[in-house]
Amino acid sequence: MPAPPELRLEEALDFAVLNGLLKRTPDGGLIHAPFTLAPCPIDPETNRRLKELSPVFNRLAFSVSRDLDFLAQALEEVVAADPFSADLLNLVRPAPSRNPLVLQITRSDYFLQAAAGDALPDIRQVELNTISASYAGSAGRVSGLHRHLLRETPHTEALIPNDPIPLLVEGFREAFALYGQPRACVLMVVQAGEGNVFDQRMFEFALVELGIPLRRATLEEIAADGSLREGHLVLRGEIAAITYFRAGYTPDDHRTPEALRAREMIENSSTISVPGVATQLAGTKKVQQVLSDAAVLKNFLPEDDATAVRATFAKMHTLEEPLDSPQGPRPAWQAAQASPGQFVLKPQREGGGNNLYDEELVRALESSSAEERRAFILMERIAPIPHRSVMVAEGRAKDEPGLSEIGRFGVLVADGERILMNRDAGYLVRTKGHQVREGGVSAGFGHLDSLIARPPEEAYRPIGG
Ligand code: ADP
Ligand code: MG
Repeated sequence: MPAPPELRLEEALDFAVLNGLLKRTPDGGLIHAPFTLAPCPIDPETNRRLKELSPVFNRLAFSVSRDLDFLAQALEEVVAADPFSADLLNLVRPAPSRNPLVLQITRSDYFLQAAAGDALPDIRQVELNTISASYAGSAGRVSGLHRHLLRETPHTEALIPNDPIPLLVEGFREAFALYGQPRACVLMVVQAGEGNVFDQRMFEFALVELGIPLRRATLEEIAADGSLREGHLVLRGEIAAITYFRAGYTPDDHRTPEALRAREMIENSSTISVPGVATQLAGTKKVQQVLSDAAVLKNFLPEDDATAVRATFAKMHTLEEPLDSPQGPRPAWQAAQASPGQFVLKPQREGGGNNLYDEELVRALESSSAEERRAFILMERIAPIPHRSVMVAEGRAKDEPGLSEIGRFGVLVADGERILMNRDAGYLVRTKGHQVREGGVSAGFGHLDSLIARPPEEAYRPIGG
């Protein structure tokens, strides 16, 4: 029998490097991406449910993105307080001016939370990512690492296989073919100096392998070198059949007027934008909060689907809505100040490191005006079940209770209202130390992980129990 994974750090690091589990450091060097040495346990039934939710959340984002009046109304308060959201809402165009083809790549993220009196945990959605849902490539590679480290042990059969890239690329292939310009390319919109470049390259090389060329450009480069020709987005002489955003989700990406101009050109062209601005907005925290109202949600999904997604929602609030407190009903922001540990305060931001917890939440609310509070939502704090984990970052391993966030990728292709493909496309697990509140691998909190099937009593057993 081989030594257990926790005694094979050096081998794991070598495997990580050999298999592209890497990131760029700010000074241009290379280092392995953070990962765990052994997979995260989950019971098969919960795993199945998570997988089944992907096409439902995909459809929800699709339906919401097509209702521009709803989006404008849902975001009305936010745009008054947040210029980034306002800029995006300004760019949205009604459907007829755009190509009817849709390609949607999403990742719905969840925590598993202990359910009183039930062996199976509650599924709680953290958020739905509709732009730049990343780590599909790295997630497949970390599954390979765990398979390698557990070889020759009885655990291998329980590993839950994961290889999202081929499934996602299938959506690109179908959408690319529907666009009907065989000599076109896919344009990947990137940030300058991206640390997570290798995850993007895995995606890129898989497309190239299918004979679909991919070009990378920043929004500024697209503004400088791009143009519209007969409705097509053309960059350096090539038509971009698909424009795939791995940028454009943070205000930094829209800092220059050129960047916004490029965004507008893309939105006004017939390129299949992944995502279009409306789909990006459908994934905002504000829209998530508005959809947590059953009366709103039912406008976008058939009843059974609405019930299934509602069962995963944590409570979400506007900051002014009345909440019960020991002193009677109070505006949610005051209730949150009184018991900050029960809430997360979220601005309209993506990419990790933006939410506020505990003292920070109290301080932010103390100093905010009613106007400023509109840019935020409050979310019930989820308490994920901890499990034993060995997390490796910067070459060093740490054995401590871990909290795992499980994301499920989804891919959807549509022509107008007609959905042609809508599937789950594998998973991403990010595990962080039990005292860490934020998440995200790029943001420096999470470690790439994979899943292993265990009976519930074993998967969620208290640590040390
Ligand atoms: P982002 O768009 O920045 O990824 P998220 O909503 O995913 O924003 O929040 C970032 C991280 O904060 C998550 O990965 C998770 O670790 C933590 N988090 C978010 N919402 C909650 C919540 N309701 N309860 C507990 N932790 C949360
Ligand atoms: Mg997130």
